[in-house]
Amino acid sequence: MTFAFCPHCGAALVEKPIGDEGLVPYCESCARPHFSFSYACVICCVFDPAKEQVLLIRQSYGEKRYVCVAGYVKQGETIEETAAREVLEETGLTASSLRYVRSYYYPKRDQLMFGFAVQAAKSDICLSCEVEEAQWFSVAEARERLREAKIAAQLLEDALR
Ligand SMILES: [Zn+2]
Repeated sequence: MTFAFCPHCGAALVEKPIGDEGLVPYCESCARPHFSFSYACVICCVFDPAKEQVLLIRQSYGEKRYVCVAGYVKQGETIEETAAREVLEETGLTASSLRYVRSYYYPKRDQLMFGFAVQAAKSDICLSCEVEEAQWFSVAEARERLREAKIAAQLLEDALR
C-alpha cells in the first residue's frame, strides 16, 4: 500500500527525502510521512494435539478450495492474538499452543503473512459465516488438498520441521 493522499486530512502527499528511506510520501499539513506498507495477516496451520492431522477450511466466498485459517491483523493486536482469534472465529476451536514459524509475502494482495503452527484439541467445530466447511486431514491428505495454495502448502512443510 502506497499512499497518494493523507489518510488523516485527505491532502495530496508530496515526496520528501527522509534519512535512509529516500523519498517518502509526506503530508505537509500534518507534517508527517506516510510510509508504504504491506497488509499484515496471519496464516495458521492448525494441528491436532498429536500433530497427526491438519485442519483445513473452505471459505464460503471466492475460490472454494481448501486453505488454512487466515486473517488480517487488527489495529492494536499482536500477531499471536490475531492467530488465536482467527482460529476461534473461523472454526470455534481454542488454540492450546501457538508457535511462530516464519513470514511469507503474497504479492497479489500485498500481504505480509505471519505463519503459525497452532495446536488445538479436536472439540466441536463451530464455523463462522465466512467458512463453508472445516475438515481434519492426515498430513498426506492435507498436502494433496493444498497443492494450489502455495503459501499454505509451504507453511505446512515449514511447520512440520
Ligand atoms: Zn494530513
